[in-house]
Amino acid sequence: MADNIRNVIIIGSGPAGLTAAIYTARANLEPLVIEGEPSSTSDQPGGQLMLTTEVENFPGFPDGIMGPELMMNFRSQAARFGAEFLTDKVTRVDFSQRPFRVWVRDDEYQAHSIIVSTGARSLMLGLEAESRLLGHGLSTCATCDGFFFRGQNIAVVGGGDSAIEEATFLTKFADKVTLIHRRDELRASKIMQDRAFANPKIELLWNHTVTEIHGTDKVEGIQVTSTIDGTVSDLAVTGVFVAIGHRPNTDLFRGVLDLEDSGYLSTQPDSTYTNVEGVFACGDVQDHTYRQAITAAGSGCMAAIDAERWLEALH
Ligand code: NAP
Repeated sequence: MADNIRNVIIIGSGPAGLTAAIYTARANLEPLVIEGEPSSTSDQPGGQLMLTTEVENFPGFPDGIMGPELMMNFRSQAARFGAEFLTDKVTRVDFSQRPFRVWVRDDEYQAHSIIVSTGARSLMLGLEAESRLLGHGLSTCATCDGFFFRGQNIAVVGGGDSAIEEATFLTKFADKVTLIHRRDELRASKIMQDRAFANPKIELLWNHTVTEIHGTDKVEGIQVTSTIDGTVSDLAVTGVFVAIGHRPNTDLFRGVLDLEDSGYLSTQPDSTYTNVEGVFACGDVQDHTYRQAITAAGSGCMAAIDAERWLEALH
């Protein structure tokens, strides 16, 4: 049983959760951050930036910074103001009454308010090379990494709006973008399709899947396989963007908090309030539009301020 009731428990430790930790710690709310499980690729402490290399678009770092280093800086800043960390994964929650209850396996923690910042994950192809090459020519974010591919031949995998959006954006930098789709028809909206077809730098490779990514410490090409007759061939690219969709990390909250049809946590307009009073959500777990570290951090700040004001009004 929990022996004390905390003001706030923050679940998740990417830019959103750690910014919420900095703000709530500085407001003397003594937050407990349950930061995730180091061995996991979707719940790892620090979130998705732990899987990237150089981050060039986070304001305040004119020379860029490595993703893991940036997240260590966030964490130290929160710790400096007294945030407490538990390096483990939440296994169950009960938000049906206050204080709210959160379990890490058999250990129970209680809090007057909760900030959910469990993030989202990019779907991957399931190839062995992906973990090795992510951040080394393999990316899931054109906005973040497109700049590194000036003048190169690269590939984008997927046939939805994300894939077309990424491919179109990447033509600003790359000489040629091959869009690889497993069927002979795109899932993307008509207007996005027209945009791709009209772009001379985008070439469509229909009815193919990526079955191997070559390279030891950087992408040196890919193997593609025809979904029609199984023919295998190689494509000479130096970059691969996987754009086959994202999944918010909301499994813990099904039946507990309102979700959008897309699976993202639902928050009230212009706030981080969920449908349960005292439970706030921020970052990629509730944002399917922007998905940037800086926007996640911004919404983490919003969640901390919302929680602080809500707690204040309780007294
Ligand atoms: P999505 O619509 O689910 O599309 C995923 C694409 O990846 C599909 O074409 C799918 O192929 C393919 N795919 C899935 N798993 C694959 C695998 N293992 N190997 C190869 N290909 C695979 O995801 P999304 O494009 O990220 O879009 C998500 C939502 O956000 C959609 O509602 C979309 O409209 C919206 N969105 C809108 C915009 C915009 O309007 N500007 C931009 C981005 C996203 P199949 O087609 O064969 O299933």
